[in-house]
Amino acid sequence: MIGSNLERDGDRNDRETAHATALIHHSYTPPAGFASVQPPVHKASTVIFPDTKALQARGWKDKAGYSYGLLGTPTTYTLEERIATLEGGVQTLLLPSGLAAIALVDLALLRTGDEVLIPDNAYGPGKELARTELARWGITHRCYDPMDPSALAAMLSPATKLVWLEAAGSVTMEFPDLSALVRIARAHGALTALDNTWGAGIAFDAFDIEPGLGVDISVHALTKYPSGGADVLMGSVTTRDDSLHLRLKAVHMRMGWGVGANDAELLLRSLPTLALRYHAHDQAARRLATWWSVRIEAQQVLHPALPASPGHEAWQRLCTASAGLFSVVFDERYSAMQVHAFVDALRLFKIGFSWAGPVSLVVPYDLSTLRSRPAWRGTLVRFSVGLESVDDLIGDCEQALAALG
Ligand SMILES: *Cc1c(COP(=O)(O)O)cnc(C)c1O
Repeated sequence: MIGSNLERDGDRNDRETAHATALIHHSYTPPAGFASVQPPVHKASTVIFPDTKALQARGWKDKAGYSYGLLGTPTTYTLEERIATLEGGVQTLLLPSGLAAIALVDLALLRTGDEVLIPDNAYGPGKELARTELARWGITHRCYDPMDPSALAAMLSPATKLVWLEAAGSVTMEFPDLSALVRIARAHGALTALDNTWGAGIAFDAFDIEPGLGVDISVHALTKYPSGGADVLMGSVTTRDDSLHLRLKAVHMRMGWGVGANDAELLLRSLPTLALRYHAHDQAARRLATWWSVRIEAQQVLHPALPASPGHEAWQRLCTASAGLFSVVFDERYSAMQVHAFVDALRLFKIGFSWAGPVSLVVPYDLSTLRSRPAWRGTLVRFSVGLESVDDLIGDCEQALAALG
């Protein structure tokens, strides 16, 4: 009884093993003459080498071949090339989030004893990374007022190796004089890295701010406009200089910061509509910001395309478009609790981080936590305008204002 069972199991095992091998080694050739519009998704950790000579000859510095999924697949190479094109750069690295892209730049270009300068109004988690992890490794940071180029000039020291830039600044939407900041950093011999998430490669050219003047590195949270779906996290680091790219790429490889092919596929699917979506968000945000600018509840509306907004002239000089973001500083007679009641009363605007998806979002902030100089007090609500009807969004703001008290 036992014996016959074993025999049957043995038969089944042989058959299953042969079957398993056949399924794994079944021949597969991508179909010739199948010209689909979207590129296929190539998924790999392992990439097979034809022989040991090819294994030993593998390299990581260029796209001449493939060696391991973490270092690139046809799918991620395609996305890298398209992001480089979008940004006006030459080489792009992909990372699992926008924040990881910021971290890569810091880790690759800074060492113990160096200093990095960060705009005072920059994306918060980037500042937090400097305050905690970089500090632990003996890298110091200071925050400069991006609206005062002379403040940056005064802060540069022999230890300054990297200057971060952001235009417009996260949440406060102040638009800096990028040309002046880049010129100052460059004259000092410090590298410049721009968080280009807001401009998205559409509003201005990071590598050609002026003829002959551009940033060294453009970082982009692809999570935002390139995705547009509020469902993918990815970041990119784009350059125009081969040696700088290789410094970044070596650290990217050693840290293991690759991206999955399915996420890359979602980005490749969304990129063709990026410009259309960006301009639609832009138009809607301008209409809504203009509506807010005459409301008595608003002390100030921060949107670089509005003439009264900080940095409007710099925005006008450099940009041909604006993202779907603006912030409202509420009149000081309203407490934070009253502003939170307004936020809670919104129906179409959802409460949540990130932006550039189809759903409109809001986040309230205590202004004093966003900016250390100049001192700025009060409660601000950052609006990320989605793709709903603008009339409906205005109606939503109007009905929620009743909750302000
Ligand atoms: C969202 C964002 C990031 C970070 O991107 P994640 O993919 O969410 O990590 C960085 N910079 C700016 C300006 C952002 O808006």
